[in-house]
Amino acid sequence: MTRMNCIYCSRPLDKSNEHIIPDSMNGRLQSTNIICADCNNKFGRYVDPVFKEMLNPLLIVFGFENARHTHAEGLDNETYNFSKDGKPSYLKNEVTISQEDNKTILRAAGNPKEALKAFQKQAKKLNESGKVFTGDITVENIAEYNSFRIKWEMKVNSKLILALNKIATEFYAHCELDTSLIIDLLSRIRGLDESIDNVTFCNWNCEVRKYAEDEVTHLIVLRKNKDNTLYCYLELFNVICVAIPLCNNYESQADFVYYQNALTGEKLTKEIIFETEVEFTNNRVGNFDLLINAACERHNQIKFREIYTEETKKILEQYKLDMEQGVIPANDEKFVLEKRLGAMIAQLSIDFPYMIEDYKDEMNDDMNHIHSNLREDQYDDFCEKYKFLIGKNVKIGNDFFVFDSFVKSPFIIRNSIQLLKVHFCLTNIKTNKPKYYPYEEFLRMLSNAADKLKQEDPPAN
Ligand SMILES: [Zn+2]
Repeated sequence: MTRMNCIYCSRPLDKSNEHIIPDSMNGRLQSTNIICADCNNKFGRYVDPVFKEMLNPLLIVFGFENARHTHAEGLDNETYNFSKDGKPSYLKNEVTISQEDNKTILRAAGNPKEALKAFQKQAKKLNESGKVFTGDITVENIAEYNSFRIKWEMKVNSKLILALNKIATEFYAHCELDTSLIIDLLSRIRGLDESIDNVTFCNWNCEVRKYAEDEVTHLIVLRKNKDNTLYCYLELFNVICVAIPLCNNYESQADFVYYQNALTGEKLTKEIIFETEVEFTNNRVGNFDLLINAACERHNQIKFREIYTEETKKILEQYKLDMEQGVIPANDEKFVLEKRLGAMIAQLSIDFPYMIEDYKDEMNDDMNHIHSNLREDQYDDFCEKYKFLIGKNVKIGNDFFVFDSFVKSPFIIRNSIQLLKVHFCLTNIKTNKPKYYPYEEFLRMLSNAADKLKQEDPPAN
């Protein structure tokens, strides 16, 4: 069927190309048979941008070209700039000069390259005033000691409700269903009516639909429930999951699905099975954090597989080459290959904890330790074990700190086990600023310091 008129304003269609899921989210379903250029432009200005604004942090994590840089808060409470490809940098460069034991101490902080420049400029000035440079330059990597939190609160607003209705009605039209049955809704969308309140946010606990382990997708489904209500179930990045009723007493059969990989754009054909019947409660409240973290975790899984495949290929190619050139001693072939693959997997398990499938990683205390993680059930014992540190003074570099508290941040649930990232919080005695160390990092520093003391002690007889 070729439609002649725009579904919203009824003016003649003019080949205006519409992305039913906006292009900003890599939506690939397009049609020139739905809306006119005027409506397309109007919605493009007032409605569609809500997704990009609301989901920007997710676009950064997923490496989308159109993501915008943002500010992120480190655990030290400083604000950092996060580039659109997810790299942190200091917001400002700072050089401080202080006096200690007749020495002039110069300290620079900030973006390493620029901080060094600023440092050298100050050092030159001091040099010209007759001071001699005797110190070392130590570079401290912020990423090493810091975790970042992008301040992001997903709040459902009326623009989002409008934009979701637009996707649902356009898909309805795309499936060539009778638009006269949803004429009221179409006219409210056309009028940018922000009082529309027909959207139920759901699937908070996969009660509607379970995801595959490495799934990051967009999904639109049109189906009928047992009361003959035709509804649209919609998922964007599996984070915004909603049900929208479109017509009551719908008589014909209806089962239409559009399903795509949100990262690659690839169209998917897997059957969509709902665990339960979708309900319409107009609920807008739920924990988006868990849906977001779960989507990021699945994205990590995808990245892990890509790198794993690539690295395995490289190792096999090199191995083949070495075999041909006789570099590998006879009888050692199998051992060498296993050793090379094993080393690669060990390295990857550091960069991507909890991705190796062979065993339950979240139960592996060694791996948790490397990443300063704990299972939730271990946290109380951990605090008990280290509570003797609280209130103690610690010298790190030239600064004195007092040990303040433990900080836990939940980050994933895997196999029903909640994992926590655990930091030690120290307060700088001079500046009163908190500094957060992943617990493994801090315990390692303590044990190095203890070893040093031992070496300085005269051997006991
Ligand atoms: Zn129109």
